[in-house]
Amino acid sequence: MSLPGTAAGAGLASCHDCGLLSRLVPLPPGHVAHCPRCDAPLHSRRVNSVSRTWALLIAAYILYVPANVLPVSTVIWMGHGEPDTILSGVKTLFAHGDAPVALLLFFASICVPMLKMLLLTWLLLSVQFRWMWRPRDRTVIYRIVEVIGRWSMLDIFVISILVALIQLGSLATMEAQAGAVSFAAVVVLTMFAAESFDPRLMWDSLESDR
Ligand SMILES: [Zn+2]
Repeated sequence: MSLPGTAAGAGLASCHDCGLLSRLVPLPPGHVAHCPRCDAPLHSRRVNSVSRTWALLIAAYILYVPANVLPVSTVIWMGHGEPDTILSGVKTLFAHGDAPVALLLFFASICVPMLKMLLLTWLLLSVQFRWMWRPRDRTVIYRIVEVIGRWSMLDIFVISILVALIQLGSLATMEAQAGAVSFAAVVVLTMFAAESFDPRLMWDSLESDR
């Protein structure tokens, strides 16, 4: 497989902020080049991409546990209420005949974050061990991970809609619990992890092998 040369190979880097392509000149260690147009720092690759993504991803895996084990909310209905975890919330919704909302909650809160973390782990391993397998397909998978990150936010919409419905009814109150904080942290951490991963690294292993 023949690849056209990369910008990094030609000593060029494009600015992450304004897109201007500049020539990278050798600098003493500890100095960073800046974009001549907007003054943003210039890198041909995101800095420490692999270790940063690993750190964020591992933190997300750890917080995924309390996000699912701890209660996320307590719905107090006519003075009585029990704390709900995400899964028990899904069960309750099913029991009350709200199957579409239950499925949406299950998909957005349990499947999407897990799928996203697993795909990012796989992409990181592929970069770390310099796999040659289909970099184009892996790039597509990375884009999918970026897109489904927005779907995790769906859950926050679901919770807001539930809160609004409950408060309109004014028969029940809903309180957020510790699990909700962990869940929000998982969503944010996986978003940052996807952001810090540099998909160009997947192509570098092909470059150096020529
Ligand atoms: Zn710029």
